[in-house]
Amino acid sequence: MNKKFLNKIIICHIFLLLSVSLAAVAMPKISVLATGGTIAGSGASSTGSAYKAAVSPVEKVIAAVPELSNIAKISGEQICNISSQDMKVEYWLKLAARINQLFRLGLADGVVITHGTDTMEETAYFLNLTVAYDKPVILTGSMRPGSALSADGAMNLYNAVAVAAAPNSINKGVMVVMNDRVYSARGVKKCDTINPAAFSDQENGPIGRVNYGKVSFNARPDKRHTYQSALKLGIFTASLPEVAIIYGYAGINSEIVEAICNTGIKGLVYAGVGNGNPSEEVLAVLAKASENGLTVVRASRVPGGPVTLDAEVDDTKYGFIVSDSLTPQKSRILLMLALQKNLAKPAIQQLFFDY
Ligand code: ASP
Repeated sequence: MNKKFLNKIIICHIFLLLSVSLAAVAMPKISVLATGGTIAGSGASSTGSAYKAAVSPVEKVIAAVPELSNIAKISGEQICNISSQDMKVEYWLKLAARINQLFRLGLADGVVITHGTDTMEETAYFLNLTVAYDKPVILTGSMRPGSALSADGAMNLYNAVAVAAAPNSINKGVMVVMNDRVYSARGVKKCDTINPAAFSDQENGPIGRVNYGKVSFNARPDKRHTYQSALKLGIFTASLPEVAIIYGYAGINSEIVEAICNTGIKGLVYAGVGNGNPSEEVLAVLAKASENGLTVVRASRVPGGPVTLDAEVDDTKYGFIVSDSLTPQKSRILLMLALQKNLAKPAIQQLFFDY
């Protein structure tokens, strides 16, 4: 082989090596924070419905999708390994603190949280209110465990990482990626108990799509997230004020409502019928509780539409707050965060309109 030709080959190799390592350096750093759920679950049969959620550790969840390394520099951490029906404030605080730390130290360009689908919308909204950075935070999970026929976890995780890595995902708040769709944290809700197309946002629809990792957005979330706001958590926040939810129904026994109001809770979300309506007897109990210092939010058990101020209920007279279009479970989260800031009622009401 002549020397000139050999030199050319060496130079080509150097260029190739350089461009491969530059591409690796330029790849976004995505932290996968695992919390459990069906995406980490497994069953004995590929066609049976029985399975156990939250059995695989984060390393196994990531290793199941080797294609992730083509789109991002992935690191994994186990926050907890639970079914999301066991999710609680303690894990939310841990998640928020870790995500804020990862962004503050420049250790991640985006975060993906693997999570059970049952309470995914709640964790998403909590983080939407408490992550103080505009970088992408994406929640994903699966409706079928990895052992099932047509399991959905691997594609959901791949798509979630693609959304977390996409430059146009910045400043859109926390998002949920499931079944090829991107939802904003405020409006997303689990609407099917078993189907892989389980999530939707009844008021606004998805804000984007992701197809085999190709991300496109068609809308922006219309409400704020707290990288601009007063709801950020202090570093010493270890718990939040207790807030309960009561679900209204025809013939509800107001004594049960009264008993719950007297348990020492600091706030109550009443998921009333229609436009958040309580029965006459329940209204009397809520009015008394509000007078005694309990913060009462009127939400609705109806899946669509806002709860409006001073409609059939004179909220101004009783000192009630309305949920606007927040679901009862998300109203509880906003109320817990507002109460730990000791905000006055008009300021809390404004938060329900703004966030
Ligand atoms: N119960 C499971 C959970 O929320 C369901 C799921 O992940 O789809 O952890």
